[in-house]
Amino acid sequence: MAAKDLSATPDDVLIRFRGVRKEFASGTVAVEGLDLDVRRHELLALVGPSGCGKSTTLRMVNRLVEPTAGQILLDGDDIGAGDPVALRRCIGYVIQHVGLFPHRTVAQNVATVPRLLRWDRKRTTDRVDQLLDLVGLDPATYARRYPHELSGGERQRVGVARALATDPPVLLMDEPFGAVDPVGRRRLQIEFRRIQEDLGTTVMLVTHDIDEAVQLADRVAVFSKGGVLEQIDDPVRLLAQPANDTVAEFVGQGR
Ligand code: ADP
Ligand code: MG
Repeated sequence: MAAKDLSATPDDVLIRFRGVRKEFASGTVAVEGLDLDVRRHELLALVGPSGCGKSTTLRMVNRLVEPTAGQILLDGDDIGAGDPVALRRCIGYVIQHVGLFPHRTVAQNVATVPRLLRWDRKRTTDRVDQLLDLVGLDPATYARRYPHELSGGERQRVGVARALATDPPVLLMDEPFGAVDPVGRRRLQIEFRRIQEDLGTTVMLVTHDIDEAVQLADRVAVFSKGGVLEQIDDPVRLLAQPANDTVAEFVGQGR
């Protein structure tokens, strides 16, 4: 068999992990030998027990964490070779405690990246209004509020709006709905999925909630300590036919 050109990525793959390893200075190996493809426009859920390296995997994509070995390709290019600041501008990032700036209004929070990019005032305010509408927050009511004047679910919506401000092709979400009450969470999940499909955003969603993964994702990657155990194209099958005992055990625990 001819040697395969490992740098080539098929057109439908946007993010490719190749032999990625992360060992922290403490000696903890968080990720080891990770090979994973994220397809263009899909919502890929990363599930697995706590401490198995999901967040580290996500944070290597926007280079908040640098891999110790291996490569991550974005659209065929090694992200390690480029400028991390430019990289982060095309990657939205949403975390559980959304990290809104407490002394800035909702509108100012959503406008964070447009301001860094020196958008003019009109373009920025139009975009903020559009994004707040998109995530179901009436701009007239919410734009001037401060984060402490919002519920957990509303804060999370603002976090999503902020991450989408420049319409990034990639969105990284780490337990994004974890702090939202169950009823609000379900609504937010459904609305988020609609937005993601409309925009065609490629999403990596970390969750320990197996039901969330199955309901929302196009595909699911099940992690065990340090790497991917199984990649599942049909999430519903994850529940019906776990590939092996480890997956079955995790799926069972998550429910
Ligand atoms: P998960 O998101 O799946 O719960 P993490 O990626 O957060 O897992 O963590 C994987 C492992 O790496 C854990 O053992 C964790 O303690 C360790 N770890 C994560 N971040 C750091 C860090 N900055 N320094 C040292 N160890 C870390
Ligand atoms: Mg985590």
